[in-house]
Amino acid sequence: YFFRLTFYSKEYDNLKSILMSAPFRPETPMAKTLMDIGTRRIFSEEHDLFRKNVRRFFQEEVVPYHAQWEKAGEVSREVWKKAGEHGLLGIYTPEEHGGIGGDLFSAAIVWEEQMYCNCTGPGFSLHSEIVMPYISHYGSKAQIEHYIPQMTAGKYIGAIAMTEPGAGSDLQGMKTFAKKDGTDWILNGSKVFISNGWISDMVIVAAVTNREAKKVAHGISLFLVDSGTKGFQKGRKLEKLGLKAQDTAELFFENVRLPAEALLGHANKGFYYLMNELPQERLSIAVMALASCEFMFEETRNYVMQRKAFGRTIADLQVVQHKLAELKTDICVARAFIDSCLQLHSTKNLDSSTASMAKYWASDLQNKVATQCLQLHGGWGYMWEYPIAKAFADSRVQPIYGGTNEIMKELISRNIVSKK
Ligand SMILES: Cc1cc2nc3c(=O)[nH]c(=O)nc-3n(C[C@H](O)[C@H](O)[C@H](O)COP(=O)(O)OP(=O)(O)OC[C@H]3O[C@@H](n4cnc5c(N)ncnc54)[C@H](O)[C@@H]3O)c2cc1C
Repeated sequence: YFFRLTFYSKEYDNLKSILMSAPFRPETPMAKTLMDIGTRRIFSEEHDLFRKNVRRFFQEEVVPYHAQWEKAGEVSREVWKKAGEHGLLGIYTPEEHGGIGGDLFSAAIVWEEQMYCNCTGPGFSLHSEIVMPYISHYGSKAQIEHYIPQMTAGKYIGAIAMTEPGAGSDLQGMKTFAKKDGTDWILNGSKVFISNGWISDMVIVAAVTNREAKKVAHGISLFLVDSGTKGFQKGRKLEKLGLKAQDTAELFFENVRLPAEALLGHANKGFYYLMNELPQERLSIAVMALASCEFMFEETRNYVMQRKAFGRTIADLQVVQHKLAELKTDICVARAFIDSCLQLHSTKNLDSSTASMAKYWASDLQNKVATQCLQLHGGWGYMWEYPIAKAFADSRVQPIYGGTNEIMKELISRNIVSKK
């Protein structure tokens, strides 16, 4: 017993000395600003270096062009290629598949930095951490070799099309149908609200392939459909309340003949693939939502400290100070949960219900922070020239896409009341 005790205490001492010698990384509440580099336990010094480069990329290659892209309703193809050259696409896709082979935390840095510069135009996260994983996880060797390296280089842009005019939250209403014709498939139907839909070179299309299945979910397949395929038409770019520089399109498929090689994974397994991949999509929305909160908080802190009213700055008013204290507390509490979700997902342990909590909580918080920060800007907050106006408009969609927050609550509650 004595031996074990000394052994454990030595082991404990070693561990303690390792922990003590590791440089202390302040958590978000202790940092000077909520967007500081060098903070948070989940990151390392290598991540900090990477973050500096990503921050520079967004400042130099995205910020100066964003207003122009907002008017055009789409970003340039050049920014995709530049992002590829800087190694910012396909970070979390294995190197042996043609991705960068980085860790989840590096991918999260790109999501966060995009929100920190308040430029939602480039659909990088959708392309890299939503579309690419389907190909990497379920694609054939030929599909992986064809698509992944080009997507990592930013030469091929990806989108995913599940939603239809009559099927959003409830994919059981899906009408797009792919019929077998020899070894080919003939695709008919339409999709709506597809992010990157207009600019994309390839879309993963969900379609019913077995109408006899007991439930629609058991008869859905995924197809890789290239732009320019005969019968595949892109409709108008939809005019949106926010995300002005991001293209969101309608897609139409009329007797599109697809070879057997266009099928992703196995026939009729599409719904299961979607269910497997959705937690990562929801986590990325949560991470971006919270980063946007941090951006809006700092933007507002700066504003109230220089805005004068009644002979002093509005930051001198106790009511404003308390509002900022409440917002900072809300954001930092959420930060602890979201960072723990990132950690869980980095070891493949984030379950659907926890990812749904993250998405619902962070996107609702983003809207609360947006409303209150805009209010603190007064009338100027309503003007598009002020970043808070754009952040407010961009926030609104976050509780809607990636599964609405009402659907998130359905998924969370299923786990609570399920009978074992
Ligand atoms: C900007 C933007 C980008 C998008 N990008 C993509 C994309 O790239 N690919 C893609 O496939 N889709 C995309 N979508 C679609 C998005 O995922 C859907 O809009 C979303 O899932 C909701 O579906 P819906 O619009 O049909 O709403 P509906 O399903 O009609 O829902 C209407 C309302 O009813 C509520 N509701 C529905 N069912 C329930 C229920 N069981 N319990 C409680 N409440 C319920 C909803 O929460 C919502 O409030 C995008 C949407 C937008 C706005």
